Amino acid sequence: MTPPRRPAASASRKKRTRTRTSASKTRGRSRIRKARPDPERVKAILQALDREYPQAACSLRHKNPFQLLIATILSAQCTDERVNIVTRELFKVAPTPKKLAALPREKVEDLIRSTGFFRNKARSIQEAARMIVEEYGGRVPDEMEDLLRLPGVARKTANVVLGTAYGKAEGIVVDTHVKRIARLLGLTHHTDPNKIEQDLMRIIPRDHWISFTHQIIEHGRKVCIARRPRCAECVLAPHCPSAS
Ligand code: SF4
Repeated sequence: MTPPRRPAASASRKKRTRTRTSASKTRGRSRIRKARPDPERVKAILQALDREYPQAACSLRHKNPFQLLIATILSAQCTDERVNIVTRELFKVAPTPKKLAALPREKVEDLIRSTGFFRNKARSIQEAARMIVEEYGGRVPDEMEDLLRLPGVARKTANVVLGTAYGKAEGIVVDTHVKRIARLLGLTHHTDPNKIEQDLMRIIPRDHWISFTHQIIEHGRKVCIARRPRCAECVLAPHCPSAS
């Protein structure tokens, strides 16, 4: 038997559906607006971080912008502890861009092998060293635009060099700790590091841009540890929507 045909949706039902759709879109947008943290809460987070981590600093050992640049490129997918072990030897044989660029590729690969992705990293650091020598007179540039031209350098590395080596707050370093904790704190709902950085730059005063990253990284190592955050001991708990 042929089943009875459903009546076509009436114009008023279609209108209701349209109204519901636009209403839910509006609700979605308002949720995003609500997700934007209020300035007082951001201020309280920054004050708590300043009190808890007044001396937070970059944990990659370096003596100059060149060493910091190389160490930061090597730190991709690798711990800072491992990078510090590797760079101790690397900088003995290649303390300057000129010396690093002149080393045989195999030698560089051997020296940095334990940081992972060593072939790509060896190519990046030697090409970056060569460009610094040939195009920047042997000095690591201190402008975002120039740093982004160097092989192996994206915004995160450029922000590390600008902030830590030159004291220039051009952006906020978004590493794995900053990405995770900024989301837990409700400071962003994004997962893309560039969008997270834009969100953070909108709500965090510029004079905190450099220290914020160092403080959050330290917090992520000591307290807000991935998979087992110690919320009971966390100074940010009163201001954190993810506190348990
Ligand atoms: S309260 Fe918990 S989730 Fe929030 S920042 Fe602290 S440790 Fe992380």
